[in-house]
Amino acid sequence: MTLINQNKRNPCLPRRSTGPLRRGLTALGLALTAALAGCGDAPADPTAATPRPRPTVVATTTVLHDVTRQVAGQDAKVVGLMRVGEDPHVYEVRPQDAKTLAGADLVLANGLHLEATLGRVIDQVAPHTHVELAETAGIEPLGSDTYAGAPDPHIWMDPLLFTRVVTQIGESLASADPVHAQAYRDRATEYNARLTTLHDEITAAFAAIPAGQRVIITSHDAFNYYAKAYGLTVHGVVGISTDAQPTGQQVEALRSLVRDQGVRALFVETSTSPTLNNIVEKVAAEAGIAIGGTLYSDSLGDRGTPGGTYLKMLRHNTAVIVAALTAGESGVVERAE
Ligand SMILES: [Zn+2]
Repeated sequence: MTLINQNKRNPCLPRRSTGPLRRGLTALGLALTAALAGCGDAPADPTAATPRPRPTVVATTTVLHDVTRQVAGQDAKVVGLMRVGEDPHVYEVRPQDAKTLAGADLVLANGLHLEATLGRVIDQVAPHTHVELAETAGIEPLGSDTYAGAPDPHIWMDPLLFTRVVTQIGESLASADPVHAQAYRDRATEYNARLTTLHDEITAAFAAIPAGQRVIITSHDAFNYYAKAYGLTVHGVVGISTDAQPTGQQVEALRSLVRDQGVRALFVETSTSPTLNNIVEKVAAEAGIAIGGTLYSDSLGDRGTPGGTYLKMLRHNTAVIVAALTAGESGVVERAE
């Protein structure tokens, strides 16, 4: 009875034994008990501080939410602000967002003015804890043809370029939670290896399509980094932000691409306004061609869908674009040869 009570009080205390068999069983039991209780050679210190709670990290977009979760592992709690399908350019700040941002140990934003409205709230309530990833990682942004001088924020479309953002996410987490710094850096390196492999896969997927045929039309200009990385020409109904209405001239320019230049790969996007998607559908219908498919641009899809993660989203987009560019085109390729 005494022994049981003693071990209830502290499972790391040694038991008394009375014979060789008992000693052997007791030693085994003690080792198991100690292992289960987390006891090492030193006795447990009842005055030891309780473990620090995990840091809370807020990521603005669905892409950053997914990637940050991969890098954070179990060492940090990652909260995403934007929901699946939401358009970051015109995101309407929710009442609880300011509180969520103010309570975070670290706020990770894409930067390059992607978080237009939300960015102002972040500056106000998390002035010392937020990181603009693109700027901090030193990424040289592409400019926009539509808005002279405005940086193009869609850097996640180039997975190789985005490895620098992933590295920065690891560094930002390491600064916010130095105890787990190495684990964050290791996971960032591991994830970047997957991005590099994906980049090679996408490059290979386009290899058989002549560069001159890699021309696509999308709802908005989200694919410039993707186009640059994989040798495509991309035309959007409007510029790099969806916060604009297309002019008649822009729509006519798209018609001309389809009518006069034979562009046959037109796509709608999941996170863009129906107005822009409708224009793409109308231009395609006028020319009697089918939409090539739906692309994930500024938001992931729901979990379990083809756009459920950043890696899956890029794979899906590539498969859809390659299929549209090669559909019924084998004759053209043969004639070109
Ligand atoms: Zn966009």
